[in-house]
Amino acid sequence: MPEPILEIRSVVKRFGGLSAVDCVSFCVIDGELLGIAGPNGSGKSTLFNVISRNPYPATSGEVHFRGNRIDQWPAQKIAEAGLTRTFQKDAAFPDLTAIETVALAAHYGKGLARKDAAEAAARTLDEMGVAPERRELPTNALSVYERKQLMIGSALVTEPLILMLDEPASGLTRPEIESLKTLLLQIKSTGVTIILIEHVLSLLLAVAERLIVLNQGRVLAEGEPQTVIRNPEVIEAYLGERAA
Ligand code: ADP
Ligand code: MG
Repeated sequence: MPEPILEIRSVVKRFGGLSAVDCVSFCVIDGELLGIAGPNGSGKSTLFNVISRNPYPATSGEVHFRGNRIDQWPAQKIAEAGLTRTFQKDAAFPDLTAIETVALAAHYGKGLARKDAAEAAARTLDEMGVAPERRELPTNALSVYERKQLMIGSALVTEPLILMLDEPASGLTRPEIESLKTLLLQIKSTGVTIILIEHVLSLLLAVAERLIVLNQGRVLAEGEPQTVIRNPEVIEAYLGERAA
């Protein structure tokens, strides 16, 4: 087995009496696309929050990234080292244009000066196929899909080694999910490791090489995606959610 780029060891996050992440361990292999699924409230977003320390650290456990133990590092240092995450809600600044939004991420995320940040943003949006006339629009004039593109572009412009995406397909139409799928595979083909939290199982199954299912803060199943989703415990966890 190749050396993991990221290793999560016995990570716990408690909110008062609730263990939102309850002793989770797994590895991520360099260059893979790892899917993370699980019913609502199973601890997926909390897991990203504590790995990135953005916005808070774990209660206990260790995170190792490229041979360094990073769970005590400040969030900014973790991001600068190449671990970048997106949030479930796209936090676009309504008055900034698309290109300004991505340039801002390049400035703060990568420390680029204004001109270099603008150039990096233009390059990233080029690679993502965002048309020049759309780049000059304020973000509140863009479609949901375009705002997702910007969210992903704002992460990519920092040149991450690992891109952690939290439910990027939420709110998208079927054709938009197809476009997102193409975008994710394109990003993966450049060598970026991707950890994808997704509620839309069809997208996960189309792109993930490995799948982890969380339930009540624990790893319920892990492995080849088609095998994992046929696991009776996984089916029960999802049915339980539908009944709730
Ligand atoms: P998921 O992303 O899988 O839907 P979350 O990680 O958002 O789940 O939440 C996991 C559990 O932790 C849920 O029960 C949620 O209500 C709880 N939780 C999340 N954030 C907080 C918080 N800041 N304070 C208290 N409980 C929280
Ligand atoms: Mg979530």
